[in-house]
Amino acid sequence: MSSSPSTIRVAIIGGGLAGAALLRGLLRYPHIAVDMYESRPAFREEGPGLSFTTSTQAILAAIDPELELCLDRAGAVSTSFEVRTASGPHTGRRIEVNGLEAPGAKKIVGRQAFLTEMLSGMPPRMMHPGARISSVTDLSPGGHQGLLLTFADGSQKKYDIVVGADGTHGFTRGLVLGGDEALVSPHSTGFWSLPMKVPLRRAQQAMGTRYLDPSNPRQIGWVGDGTGMIHNLLDNGNEVEIVVYGNMDDVEVAEEDGASGASWAKLFTPDEFHEMFASNQLPVCQGMVDLIQSVYTVQVAAICQLEHTPAPTYVTKNVCLIGDSAHSMLPFQGASVSIAIEEALILSSLLGRLPSKAAIPAALQAYDQVCRPRAELATRSSAETGFLVTGRGPSVGLDADLLQHQLRHKWDFLLEVDIDAYRAAANVVMDQLLGAETWM
Ligand SMILES: Cc1cc2nc3c(=O)[nH]c(=O)nc-3n(C[C@H](O)[C@H](O)[C@H](O)COP(=O)(O)OP(=O)(O)OC[C@H]3O[C@@H](n4cnc5c(N)ncnc54)[C@H](O)[C@@H]3O)c2cc1C
Repeated sequence: MSSSPSTIRVAIIGGGLAGAALLRGLLRYPHIAVDMYESRPAFREEGPGLSFTTSTQAILAAIDPELELCLDRAGAVSTSFEVRTASGPHTGRRIEVNGLEAPGAKKIVGRQAFLTEMLSGMPPRMMHPGARISSVTDLSPGGHQGLLLTFADGSQKKYDIVVGADGTHGFTRGLVLGGDEALVSPHSTGFWSLPMKVPLRRAQQAMGTRYLDPSNPRQIGWVGDGTGMIHNLLDNGNEVEIVVYGNMDDVEVAEEDGASGASWAKLFTPDEFHEMFASNQLPVCQGMVDLIQSVYTVQVAAICQLEHTPAPTYVTKNVCLIGDSAHSMLPFQGASVSIAIEEALILSSLLGRLPSKAAIPAALQAYDQVCRPRAELATRSSAETGFLVTGRGPSVGLDADLLQHQLRHKWDFLLEVDIDAYRAAANVVMDQLLGAETWM
């Protein structure tokens, strides 16, 4: 165990946030040679802005101290978070949320800007945009000969470990979980979302200035009757991001996803859309509806929120899943990215301890044993939160006192994470599996 390890070759499939965080984490280990493959011609992240609590910021810094600076370089806005009722008997009442209400409790950043900063300065030889992996073959199912990656152009390359960071619809989930469609493909949760960005001045004209004060940046979630609305500043405070949510239990599905059968889009007429938010009478909420309808004049196109069935494992002996390929979850707590960042830290730490290729299965098992239960907790919590913040919590509805009771501690598991304890636990599992607790 004390001999110097030979180089361990790691292929990361997928150049989103999870892959990029892992790449940065692995760079510090000289015995690891890493390549990151992205099928699109450029590294892209689309969708609403991302929230980083102070705990997740600390985890970013533990992966690589530069990553925390990337947030600021990408125009992150330090903000407080609050929840208010938009409808029902207690309209406008503030719901207290433990740990997130102070100014600067979290930073919100645009995805593309943050990904660009994360990858800036990374060695170009390790980053491969425009490279789609078409298959991965285990060269010795019973041994340690490694894995053969075949690219869409027919070329091939050998690795010791493949990390699937290819997102919700990625193919690597099938490498780990086999052919069980119900486990491999995401399913619709019934929730839909619609994000949009508006210049600050325009948003203030529509929504008023009370909640959009750049000298006191706030992210505010409005709980409606079957709907949720959230707004915050983005891009150094120059833009306002609005995301509205709903549940489509009682509405028809518009289109089908050919690959998984899960619906991915929900279309509303402007009248249907307006009607859904009719009980949100507060001017700030009506302003958000007006802004969305000023863009979507003919049809309002929302995205269906998908989720994976919990996987029995995230690993084989030399393949592992990270981020959305392991666990797509609802976005209501901003937990997906936080959990992916935690996973990048723990996985990179474990791989950094590898004494030899023979130890790879132990490192991946340790990752699975420590990270999977936490992702499952986040998935359950995010789903419960989705119902609460759209006024559909069972026996809660729009009652502000009951919402307060249910939501106050909902984010504790993200805020109070003891990442050092998780890392230590993962190391213990790895050492136990290797049958030697003191080899480091
Ligand atoms: C609509 C929407 C809203 C969301 N809202 C939130 C939110 O508010 N808060 C939050 O925390 N999270 C949210 N999420 C989840 C969040 O976006 C992800 O957790 C985060 O981006 C990390 O994703 P990832 O890197 O695992 O996957 P992705 O960002 O999906 O990246 C996967 C990458 O793999 C590439 N790829 C796929 N197949 C191959 C292949 N064969 N070869 C090479 N490359 C391949 C893809 O092109 C893609 O770039 C949301 C997601 C969506 C879709």
